[in-house]
Amino acid sequence: MKSKKPSHAKCALCHAKLNAVPKRGTAGMRKLAKTEKRPERVFGGVLCGSCTRLVLKEHTRLKSGAIAKEDLDLRRAAYVNALK
Ligand SMILES: [Zn+2]
Repeated sequence: MKSKKPSHAKCALCHAKLNAVPKRGTAGMRKLAKTEKRPERVFGGVLCGSCTRLVLKEHTRLKSGAIAKEDLDLRRAAYVNALK
């Protein structure tokens, strides 16, 4: 039986395909350097670029007092709170 091909990495929020994340299995991934496995930014390899942008935007608004903690989008709240 042929082994199943690995599926591409998806954004944890919108399930869009993650760019710059190679579609390889465990063995193939092990051959790559850490910097070749995901984008080198916050939430790289977890969230897509547009979701990361929204999370960072909400984080800044929260820190500056423009919005309250209760006004955070529920899906993004966990990621916003993970930032310092
Ligand atoms: Zn996304």
